[in-house]
Amino acid sequence: MRWLRTSIFVSVTALLSVCLDYALGSSASEGHANALIDALSPEAKVYFPNSTEFSTLTSRWSSLAEPIVNVAVVPATEDDVVKIVQYANKANLPILAFNGAHAAITTLGRMHGGIEIYLGQLSSVNIAPDNKTVTVGGGTLSKNVTDTLWSAGKETVTGTCECVSVLGPGLGGGHGWLQGHYGLVTDQFVSMNVVLADGTLQTIDADSDLWWGMKGAGQNFGIVTSLTSKIYDRSQTDWAIETLIFDGDNVEALYQAANDHFSNIPVDLINWSYWLNIPTADPNKPIILFYIIQEGVTSVDPTYTKPFHDIGPISVEADSGTYKDLAAWVQIAVDSAPCQKAGLAHPRFPAYIKEYNISAQKLAYEAYAANVSGDSPFSSSIYMFEGYPVQGVQAIDGDSAAFAFRSDNILTAPLITYTPAGKELDDQAAELGNRLREIIHQGTGSNELHTYVNYAYGDETPQNWYGYEQWRQDRLKALKNKYDPEGRFSFFAPVQ
Ligand SMILES: Cc1cc2nc3c(=O)[nH]c(=O)nc-3n(C[C@H](O)[C@H](O)[C@H](O)COP(=O)(O)OP(=O)(O)OC[C@H]3O[C@@H](n4cnc5c(N)ncnc54)[C@H](O)[C@@H]3O)c2cc1C
Repeated sequence: MRWLRTSIFVSVTALLSVCLDYALGSSASEGHANALIDALSPEAKVYFPNSTEFSTLTSRWSSLAEPIVNVAVVPATEDDVVKIVQYANKANLPILAFNGAHAAITTLGRMHGGIEIYLGQLSSVNIAPDNKTVTVGGGTLSKNVTDTLWSAGKETVTGTCECVSVLGPGLGGGHGWLQGHYGLVTDQFVSMNVVLADGTLQTIDADSDLWWGMKGAGQNFGIVTSLTSKIYDRSQTDWAIETLIFDGDNVEALYQAANDHFSNIPVDLINWSYWLNIPTADPNKPIILFYIIQEGVTSVDPTYTKPFHDIGPISVEADSGTYKDLAAWVQIAVDSAPCQKAGLAHPRFPAYIKEYNISAQKLAYEAYAANVSGDSPFSSSIYMFEGYPVQGVQAIDGDSAAFAFRSDNILTAPLITYTPAGKELDDQAAELGNRLREIIHQGTGSNELHTYVNYAYGDETPQNWYGYEQWRQDRLKALKNKYDPEGRFSFFAPVQ
């Protein structure tokens, strides 16, 4: 019996290595493949094309310029990640971490064949006995963290969207509901375990020269297998929202009022707006969906809402609940449409701004409406304007992290959504997105285009992603040359 089990195991291993060699091409020798499969822990998994699991694990939120993957490996331990990186180094194969798989940046499309490292089994949330930090596995989704902390009466900054990971946003900065109090997701980092390009697993913290780079450009330097972050006592239980819908003709009045009343947005307030088609509200052009969210109350303070009521919304809807309701209110909960992987292309064209330029808002609205209305292939697009409180972000020394754009206040981005239909349509989407972004950028009066790397389209420069200061660019390049000289981690917004 034991003989039978052993020979079944040997044949499965042999079969896997043949598949691995076949899937990865001639550069992966059978010896290498055997070495990888033998080295992985028993719970690790390897999936090849033409299996349901492979299709599920390789599907991404945006189908534009997707990385081409030949094999999906699912590590079950931190050491498995070490083994996979070492294997890929020996076989000279590209590697890419897949977490929530919500990154849409087109630079990912430069991966042509290689190993997906799907981090979903490295999901865990453990609050430290002193209640000051939480340690999460490198593949943990935001919702798991916020739910666990909520049950323990704790909170921290994560991305607002339930279906993205903690590390995906965090390594590029990370905007979240609580950033007005505590700073960005990245500002919460205390230490991390990271598998570097040389295949070693290192624990790093503020004493490491790499620490600065991990906080804003971290996708460039390794695979984080676990992260310890600061947590806080939960400050508020109640949250409230008003959702107002405006006719697009109100664009100037609305953003003037936003400048007048929310330019120094109070720490307890969040103001987002989306331009999108809701034919029942306006069959001809996009409406403006305007959210005012307040913490610590069961209804939003009328002082904040009155200037907007006075403009004359088509509708006003109020709701109240807890922190855990926020994602569903703004349609980014796990089961909301924007979280689904539905085979659509989703390029975004971000630009940070300090305040709204009213003429630019009007021009952008007109250009957007002209291109997404009626039977346009882009009719499901959303133009996003995210006004988070910035007190916690701006209280932190701007030089302390690779995230470069702390002095900006509002994150804008057209999200051009469409069913892929070839290069011509992709080019049209890129032209539209870049044109809209340029209108908003021109409105800032600055030569510098500041973009949020986690929303980036992919045609931006390292200055646009990581800051214009020469010392920032030099420091990132020096770290890259030291920690990843071969450019193993260069598919996501490469620093050089
Ligand atoms: C619906 C939606 C809502 C969003 N909401 C927010 C938000 O509230 N706040 C915000 O800041 N951003 C938000 N984003 C943007 C988000 O930060 C990026 O899309 C991010 O890249 C998603 O991370 P992911 O793990 O889901 O994606 P993935 O595509 O899996 O990861 C993105 C990249 O990060 C790197 N990476 C991921 N995990 C690791 C790891 N453990 N170690 C090393 N590298 C890793 C890899 O290079 C990978 O290519 C949102 C995006 C979407 C689509």
